[in-house]
Amino acid sequence: MEIITPIQAMRAVRRAEPELSWGFVPTLGALHEGHLSLVRRARAENDRVVESIFVNPMQFERQSDLQAYPRTVERDADLLNAEGVDVVWTPDEAEMYPPGFQTVVDVQAVTRRLEGEHRPGHLQGVTTIVTKLFNVVRPTRAYFGQKDAQQAAAVRRLVLDLSMDIAIVVCPTEREADGLAMSSRNVLLTQEQRAAAPVLYRALSEAVRAWEAGEHQAEILRSWMKTRIESEPLAQIDYISVADPDTLEELHGPVDRALLSLAVYFGDVRLIDNMTVS
Ligand code: AMP
Repeated sequence: MEIITPIQAMRAVRRAEPELSWGFVPTLGALHEGHLSLVRRARAENDRVVESIFVNPMQFERQSDLQAYPRTVERDADLLNAEGVDVVWTPDEAEMYPPGFQTVVDVQAVTRRLEGEHRPGHLQGVTTIVTKLFNVVRPTRAYFGQKDAQQAAAVRRLVLDLSMDIAIVVCPTEREADGLAMSSRNVLLTQEQRAAAPVLYRALSEAVRAWEAGEHQAEILRSWMKTRIESEPLAQIDYISVADPDTLEELHGPVDRALLSLAVYFGDVRLIDNMTVS
């Protein structure tokens, strides 16, 4: 496994084997089983696998969140080596954002609500860095998690709109035994917050069960989830949504397919999760 930092070195490795299929998994590092599930899928479907680890400052709207974000690059590299990854690319911040940097990639309607509304600039930071990473790696396939459903929807839109020849593969959310979606941020929770956090999973699962039992009214599904989250004193709701899975537009009345999603604070730690019904 090679660990590469300069853009030119990453380009050279890719250029050396143009005929092979390249799978790409972009991450912020602090890897867990969720990331590794993407890596395993990429490993199974491609000749070469590249994973990038880059804590992208442009997608953090709060300086405190950027600083607190866990960084475990050496451990990450060991895990990736064990998974048979070919290349770990750890871009340099100064090279990714050269002096005078002023170009952004803005996927419009899909990024305006939910995460876009509650974390201004976040998704524009994601779509800009993903475009840059794609330009250097030029993957055949790129792997994203359903855990970040809006991000996946924005990347799908981006690739379609900008005519990029890259297949976007979205993989299911990996969970802890108690249902909590795996996240690099989970380690920042106190013991009490960690014990309370599976309420997200329970609220979503109950809404899915209600939907399966015939309750298709968006308003009722939303209020069902709200009541469940509010029953947990350590949880503070940022948003609760029942939206169209592709456009992320909020839905009203009866729905035949929907993305149920929520963002909830436990102290300073913001967790997101979602499930789809169809
Ligand atoms: P991050 O490092 O948080 O930017 O995540 C990198 C990729 O891993 C993104 O495509 C995420 O959606 C995906 N991911 C994060 N957590 C999970 C999870 N629990 N299950 C599946 N994929 C995940």
